Amino acid sequence: MEINIRRLSKNYYSEDKTIAALANVDLNIPANRIFTLLGPSGCGKTTLLRCIVGLEIPDAGEIAIGDEIVFSTEKGIYVPSEKRGLGMVFQTYAIWPHMNVFDNVAYPLQTRNEPKEEIRRKVKKTLHFVQLDGFENRPATKLSGGQQQRVALARALVAEPKVILFDEPLSNLDAKLREETRKELRSFLTKLKITAVYVTHDRIEALSLSDTVAVMKSGRIVEIGTPWEIYFDSDRRFVADFIGRANFVEGKVVTVEEPYTMIDSAIGAIACEKKSGASPGKAVTVCIRPEFIRVLKGDHTDGRNIFRGRVESLVFVGDAYEGEIRVGETLLIFRIEPTTAVREGEEIALRFDPRHCSILLN
Ligand code: ATP
Repeated sequence: MEINIRRLSKNYYSEDKTIAALANVDLNIPANRIFTLLGPSGCGKTTLLRCIVGLEIPDAGEIAIGDEIVFSTEKGIYVPSEKRGLGMVFQTYAIWPHMNVFDNVAYPLQTRNEPKEEIRRKVKKTLHFVQLDGFENRPATKLSGGQQQRVALARALVAEPKVILFDEPLSNLDAKLREETRKELRSFLTKLKITAVYVTHDRIEALSLSDTVAVMKSGRIVEIGTPWEIYFDSDRRFVADFIGRANFVEGKVVTVEEPYTMIDSAIGAIACEKKSGASPGKAVTVCIRPEFIRVLKGDHTDGRNIFRGRVESLVFVGDAYEGEIRVGETLLIFRIEPTTAVREGEEIALRFDPRHCSILLN
């Protein structure tokens, strides 16, 4: 079921100040996909999620879930949270410690007074789906963090919601478990074909879990795209910076001719293959991800985007070397295969493909 949000605004008032948590947000969340709201702390992600769920009342705007308008200031509509048919999974697992797994998952159905047999059937089916068969009688406190999170997911799913919403559900898990649970969650949600709205400030989580990512800043949506588009194709510095480690080299457009836009920069002439709206003379920033910088041994002068530099620092991180190369006054971060023979202090040549340079419009 798709969600349509029109001109949604929400202000908070604190210490004589107005905080615009949401400023005129227009958003279409497609049906049956995983849609992530990503952004730094305080950008308004949770407020937007809470407005969709009905836990927060916006100051203005409209929210429709499928064909039903659940909130509209203009039309004077407010459908209470429990009538919106949504499931929600929070950061804290919010499962009840005094109940066993069965009762935790059965709770939403019991409050709807469903017949006992029906409840038993649905809980069993949902526990099977989240791979917790046989855990029915286990006290909720005697589960691992990952299992507790699956109970929370089962409880959100058991009432067969139209949409499921997640507010940083994995942030209390340790790094390894977070990675496993993320994969599981993507597989669960993809199988279910349900509309999922997911809030996180963790870029890896957003990239690996989502079909679509919306990046938020100061109460506004600044960019929407597939994880690939957000990571590789954004022409906004805020997005390129937030979504991953990157080198930003300032420059000016010299020529725009197929297939390259040539940029005069602090490290020399850079050829960029990606298109942008930039015309000659325009000040731009070139974004180069560290994983696309190649270190070349020996003398290399042929080809585009080859520069000479000195390895200033080098750290072994297991699956790669990470470090910095100085080119003139500019320090570039890089990430290369751990098998590459390179030493700190070494003079090297480096290269990056024109296909892997993005032009950010300043
Ligand atoms: P985080 O990732 O830290 O949870 P967020 O992006 O989810 O952040 P929100 O919780 O939506 O951000 O908050 C948006 C803005 O509104 C922030 O500046 C926050 O301080 C403010 N805010 C949120 N709730 C309230 C409140 N109840 N009273 C006053 N200000 C609030």
